Amino acid sequence: MMNLVIFGAPGCGKGTQSERLIKRFGLHHISTGELLRDHISRGTELGKIADSYISKGHLIPDDLMVRVLAHELEEKKDSASNGVIFDGFPRTIPQAIALENLLKEHQAEIHTVVGLEVDEDELVKRMIQRGKESGRADDNIDTIKERLNVYHQRTAPLRDYYKKQGKYLAVNGNGTVDEISEYIESALAPQN
Ligand code: ATP
Ligand code: MG
Repeated sequence: MMNLVIFGAPGCGKGTQSERLIKRFGLHHISTGELLRDHISRGTELGKIADSYISKGHLIPDDLMVRVLAHELEEKKDSASNGVIFDGFPRTIPQAIALENLLKEHQAEIHTVVGLEVDEDELVKRMIQRGKESGRADDNIDTIKERLNVYHQRTAPLRDYYKKQGKYLAVNGNGTVDEISEYIESALAPQN
């Protein structure tokens, strides 16, 4: 069992690297960002609430987000896999504590937090580019700035939180997609 968190600032490449890792290690992928965007495009109740936060670059409140995540885990628990890769969750310390408790209920835990570390000007460049290609509503310069603020205030402290637990794997996320995924795979493979 290898449950991973893929961690880093907005635009750091969490989704892209997750795609590689689920194939390499046979993991389930839970992306809270994709999940919420799916709800928004379907116009569900959750989607309407999520949109009001995402479009401002804010986080969905912890209690709601934890409920959504718990539901998602419950749905996946019976299907076979070697573990789960959590992409975009946790984003706050209370979310990290909730995840720990949820996993404990299944006698499971987080194995490694893969931290993609990318220079801020590169992050902004990538998100602007993505906004042009995908039309993602939150990939515009004003919302990007707010997301980076929120990241530094509320999400970045998780780095020390997981370092103290000895679970944080620092990854230079500035290179090419292949370089980064090869680095992560070789760092994880011996323990798998
Ligand atoms: P990346 O480009 O590295 O894949 P991202 O930060 O650009 O990541 P998503 O992870 O897709 O984007 O998240 C998009 C938005 O969804 C966030 O800005 C936030 O508003 C909301 N969101 C996603 N996950 C959470 C969470 N765990 N808690 C609160 N809000 C969340
Ligand atoms: Mg993403």
